[in-house]
Amino acid sequence: MDRLADDSQVKQNWRGTVVRSLLLLVGACLLLGLFTGEYAWALATGLAIYLGWTLNQLRRLHKWLKEHQPDEPPPDGYGLWGEVFDSIYHLQRRNEKARGRLQAVIDRVQESTAALNDAVIMLDSNGNLEWWNRAAETLLGLKTPQDSGQAITNLLRDPRFVEYFERGSYLEPLELPSPLNDRRHLQFHITHYGNREHLMLVRDVTRLFQLEQMRKDFVANVSHELRTPLTVISGYLETLLDNVEDVNPRWLRALQQMQQQGGRMQSLLNDLLLLAKLEATDYPSDNQPVAVDLLLLSIKSDAQALSGERMHRISLEADPHLRLKGSEAELRSAFSNLVFNAVKYTPAQGEIHIRWWGDEQGAHLAVRDSGLGIEDKHLPRLTERFYRVDSSRASNTGGTGLGLAIVKHVLLRHRARLQIVSSLGQGSTFTCHFPSSQVARRLN
Ligand code: ADP
Repeated sequence: MDRLADDSQVKQNWRGTVVRSLLLLVGACLLLGLFTGEYAWALATGLAIYLGWTLNQLRRLHKWLKEHQPDEPPPDGYGLWGEVFDSIYHLQRRNEKARGRLQAVIDRVQESTAALNDAVIMLDSNGNLEWWNRAAETLLGLKTPQDSGQAITNLLRDPRFVEYFERGSYLEPLELPSPLNDRRHLQFHITHYGNREHLMLVRDVTRLFQLEQMRKDFVANVSHELRTPLTVISGYLETLLDNVEDVNPRWLRALQQMQQQGGRMQSLLNDLLLLAKLEATDYPSDNQPVAVDLLLLSIKSDAQALSGERMHRISLEADPHLRLKGSEAELRSAFSNLVFNAVKYTPAQGEIHIRWWGDEQGAHLAVRDSGLGIEDKHLPRLTERFYRVDSSRASNTGGTGLGLAIVKHVLLRHRARLQIVSSLGQGSTFTCHFPSSQVARRLN
């Protein structure tokens, strides 16, 4: 309201000043005309003087606009020009105050992000550095101001970071050793904002990483240490059962059960050790083209043996030209887990179909069964360690609860993902989707 009242008052003043100056000029010209008798000349002289004065004021304004220092007020002026200079001066003050307020907000935001222990980095749409806080200098070694405008992938050259950054989909964070000290571990989160610009948050997760490492080492060590005593016990049990006529018949059933449970413990330890091995490195050491069709053929005959008297109808359809870059041993254990699960969880004479094919998206392996099926609510948790839909169902089949966790890990290491489609009582389909980058084709 006050601003509006001020504005209308300024307009009133303007009008008054203009009318007054014009009246004064015309009056002076008329007076001069009265004395000289040349009204037209007097009016023309008056207008010329007024024009000259106006041009001079305009020149002063132009000079001030071009050359003035930040705090220098506009030149003094009279009449209409005085009003113009005053208005400009007020406008300038108002802008300065607004700028000051905005600067204070920016300063506070920068102070608070500078105080963060996590690195905050702003990148433009091409991935060039725009702004970063102090923690980014200590965690990543960015240098102010030299690195400004540099591409982030030139400064963080780890191929895993470059691949993650260029993929452009940042649903999962990335964990990597710090480029300054490989004993520290960093977690990278990237989000898009504004016009495809990137906001990158980097956290030091060394403590979490060490705890996770301790857990992995513990499981691997315990599994390893348990293996020898278990082998000895199983060996003696086997010897006792081989000489069954020397054993008191009362102990026979107990010994058989001990041998069966010993076998379960052994496969549990083997699975735990395999998982520990898979977790120890990010990518498989060997990346040779694997003939998946032959691999599946041998898994199929093992599955037929596992099925035994239950006589499942197992069929295989595989593209012989389609190969996969990766570790044959790891792929064998993942694929056989899927096929053996299909045998385990499909009633006798059920159907199992294994299909291996390729398309523009990459290569795919599907294992479809006509078995028990799984309720929807279990699907998201199925690949967790020791997760079982029904523990009585699993102990009958001798499962360890680690099979699908192994599948998930092997697929992660081959940049693939697992899709599970199932409906209770009608069967399940487990499909592994491999990206084109993992595919190697054989020409004939
Ligand atoms: P397990 O060693 O118990 O089979 P997995 O990790 O391989 O452990 O599987 C986890 C659970 O998922 C199993 O206990 C089983 O209930 C369920 N499951 C896995 N595959 C199938 C399948 N083909 N049909 C029905 N249920 C399955």
